[in-house]
Amino acid sequence: MELKDKIALVTGASKGIGKEIAITLAKRGAAVIVNYNSDAKGAERTAEEIRKSNGEAFIVKANVAEREEVASMFREIGKKYGRVDILVNNAGITQDRTLAKMSDEEWDKVIGVNLTGAFNVAREALKLMPEGGRIINMSSIAAMTGNFGQTNYAATKAGLIGFTKSLAKEVGKRRITVNAVAPGFIKTEMTDRIPFLKRKILLSLIPLGREGTATDVADAIVFLASEKSSYITGETININGGMSL
Ligand code: NAP
Repeated sequence: MELKDKIALVTGASKGIGKEIAITLAKRGAAVIVNYNSDAKGAERTAEEIRKSNGEAFIVKANVAEREEVASMFREIGKKYGRVDILVNNAGITQDRTLAKMSDEEWDKVIGVNLTGAFNVAREALKLMPEGGRIINMSSIAAMTGNFGQTNYAATKAGLIGFTKSLAKEVGKRRITVNAVAPGFIKTEMTDRIPFLKRKILLSLIPLGREGTATDVADAIVFLASEKSSYITGETININGGMSL
């Protein structure tokens, strides 16, 4: 229970990796704020699982790309808890298309959710974050290697690494650490959309011979959220089974 008495906000916790992060942080004792955008039932399922193991969950809807919705979420969080010790900027989307065919909307939407969303949430969270807080941003292997059809997505995920390093320098004096994780090929609804043949090719690029699980990512997040990582900041942990794209 190394996160006992901590308040954690996980964006995009209605499914996939965010859901597993929320459940895992709660198992370690944190009260978890479950953010979602469109999947209210999914957020309820995450909260139910947390409560089943005697954890505490508080659901808040907000589109992270919309500043007013983010401000309103933090008003609710402020009223309920008055602080946020751990922020996991997990919410993210893909809208894949080669650059030549990519629409303005596909570019803007992915930047808006993945990168501007992290900025919107982190800026508000810092107002409520005490000394020794934790910010963890969800990058991706696409940031390191690029990926065909993902100029928008890879730009956001690489942007989050620069964001992480810069913010780490700004808030170090408050003993707040800022780190990122960069998962590879993790089984979720996002990757379930990848066609069968491409999945086979991706699997062949992973030395450990399997796709990752949301738990593989959540376990690294717990470490970064805990006291045990208190001298690590501005870093990105790759969680990809050795994969190279
Ligand atoms: P997912 O299953 O599609 O789940 C995405 C989550 O993000 C959902 O809970 C969704 O909430 C939320 N979300 C989307 N847009 C949002 C918005 N505007 N505001 C608030 N929440 C929003 O995806 P995933 O695979 O778990 O991915 C989670 C994160 O890991 C993403 O940042 C993704 O880029 C990153 N990642 C994933 C992989 C992978 O292999 N799966 C690899 C590297 C990085 P609603 O459903 O409620 O809208």
